[in-house]
Amino acid sequence: MNTQEHIAIAEQYGAHNYHPLPVVIQSGQGCWVTDVEGRRFLDMLSAYSALNFGYSHPHLIDAAIAQLKKCTLTSRAFHNDQLGPFCKELCELSGYEAVLPMNSGAEACETAVKTARKWGYKVKGIAQNQAEIICANNNFHGRTVTIISFSTDAQYREGFGPYTPGFPLIPFGDPAALERAITKNTVAFFVEPIQAESGILVPPDGYLAKCREICKKHNILFILDEIQTGLCRTGTLFAWQHEGAAARPDMMCLGKALGGGVLPISAIITSWDVMKVFQPGDHGSTFGGNPFACAVARAAMHLIKTMGLAERARDMGEYFRGKLRAINAPAVKEVRGRGLLIGVEIKDTYPQARWFCERLMAEGLLCKDAHDHVIRFAPPLVIEKSDIDWAIERIAKVLPSAQPLSADGGRKPAMAGAGH
Ligand SMILES: *Cc1c(COP(=O)(O)O)cnc(C)c1O
Repeated sequence: MNTQEHIAIAEQYGAHNYHPLPVVIQSGQGCWVTDVEGRRFLDMLSAYSALNFGYSHPHLIDAAIAQLKKCTLTSRAFHNDQLGPFCKELCELSGYEAVLPMNSGAEACETAVKTARKWGYKVKGIAQNQAEIICANNNFHGRTVTIISFSTDAQYREGFGPYTPGFPLIPFGDPAALERAITKNTVAFFVEPIQAESGILVPPDGYLAKCREICKKHNILFILDEIQTGLCRTGTLFAWQHEGAAARPDMMCLGKALGGGVLPISAIITSWDVMKVFQPGDHGSTFGGNPFACAVARAAMHLIKTMGLAERARDMGEYFRGKLRAINAPAVKEVRGRGLLIGVEIKDTYPQARWFCERLMAEGLLCKDAHDHVIRFAPPLVIEKSDIDWAIERIAKVLPSAQPLSADGGRKPAMAGAGH
């Protein structure tokens, strides 16, 4: 089947909850993919950071095949020989004490919410059903009903009510707003260290450390969603480490790259002081902690410990941003980001980011808009300098080619992406 035929059956039989670029990928190696027509593309999205190690990394594929042949699933009704070592190695890597494994990122965030609420009732003594978890405007934590209940994106919420109560919202990047929002019922502040889906929004320096200090003072949990930013993407193992130990959260949500881009696996990690609130039967998942995903995650952690990926992300990211800033394109409002999580914001008076992504695809680069106005560049962390140079040549052709929109025309709504 050719590209058009593949797209036609996907459209006919699959729900239309995404608006993908018209490319049908068949295989991938490192940072490069090949489509069904035999064309090659440089991947600049990495499945939203799930593919930090690139496609088909031999260490991950070998670990997956070995475990595939032994045992894939046991359920948590029994022990398996991968779960314990996975939890231990994740604790050693991160410096935390206890792990609760799940599958998707959204499930990890749901687990963080449940943990914080239970901690609030059992440890803090909050009155039943009164717990509040403060979240930030423009957050992205996934797509379950509870999580979209605290989204500020109208499209993520519309038609899915009634919503889960108990999530006051404050502006991102403003510690004073956090302090003002805290009440006797507050159990946690739940936030992303960099808001990736909302357009690679980097908070002011010192923001996370200040928030942590406020949380400590009021005895509430400081919870970071590192699902997209964690595991070396931003140039440090976790994004909060840019602010040092002063920003260390009480709990983290991890996902995406934890499964090496091979299998879905997510987790919350925290202290026993918090994790002790769970008793057998309180929470769980059939596939959570399965030996197949745990074995691959262990292989992924081995790569994190041995490949120097954080330094790579930092150095390549700095190089990439420097080259992007040197492109003279009137459509560009700002180039920002950390490590290899980079956003190029397009001015309102130019076509939306999707317009650029379509043209970059024609040049051999696969990118995704983050909201309407930001082109996200987040390649696998194994990217070579020569690949970045190759990409820059193409980006330098596409960015300046955009013409300002006519004053009356405005943006074409048909160009809007379907979000994440
Ligand atoms: C992707 C993402 C999630 C949700 O993960 P899924 O695996 O898609 O459910 C949650 N938080 C952040 C910051 C993310 O980037």
